[in-house]
Amino acid sequence: MKAIMFDFDGTLTIKSPNIWKAIWENLGYETGKGSYFSMLFIMFLTKDITHQKWCDLTCEKFMEKGLHKDLVKSITKQIRLNDGATETFKTLKEMGYSLHIISGNFKSVIKEVLGENAKYFDSINANEFEYDKNGYVVGIKGTNYDFEGKAHFITEFKEKNNMPAKDICFVGNGDNDEWAHLSGCRTLCVNPENTDITNKTKWHHAIENVTNLTQILPEFEDNQME
Ligand SMILES: [Mg+2]
Repeated sequence: MKAIMFDFDGTLTIKSPNIWKAIWENLGYETGKGSYFSMLFIMFLTKDITHQKWCDLTCEKFMEKGLHKDLVKSITKQIRLNDGATETFKTLKEMGYSLHIISGNFKSVIKEVLGENAKYFDSINANEFEYDKNGYVVGIKGTNYDFEGKAHFITEFKEKNNMPAKDICFVGNGDNDEWAHLSGCRTLCVNPENTDITNKTKWHHAIENVTNLTQILPEFEDNQME
């Protein structure tokens, strides 16, 4: 068996808001240069805070403004899958691939956006909201698998399944996907954003303008994965 690991935002979706940024903004916070939002991101990148600490500090701010699941839902409605998604997932499953999502979004949001398509995925790995009984956010359980964690997920997966790295392909679009190649897997960049596709160490292949997800299918025809 072979496996494909997908990033979610900007890879499976198109022209959609980033959920994190959208929540901060909808709660009335600044997200520009020098904002607390942007400062937390930099502190995470420079390893001054862990991913979980980043989630905790963010959650504190969300709780100060009383983030309710209704707001998360209304932002979720603005996120849309790229055209051809269902056909792509179905075809890849029929070809025998195991499909996974490794994302910095939230599990509940991804499942909602995928709808019926969720059945094609063997695992969905992302952050999780914790709500109280009235629907207010009281915690964020951070994923271990964003940024360099994406490579950790793939490494753990290949060891657990005794699968050679060459049988795994990661499909992503952005700067938080640039670590995936460290697992030794193949990488494919679609609709690149803040990442350099001329860097062939990080991105083995790239398709710049994917307006229909079926455009990636030729990459996965049998001989392509060898
Ligand atoms: Mg992305």
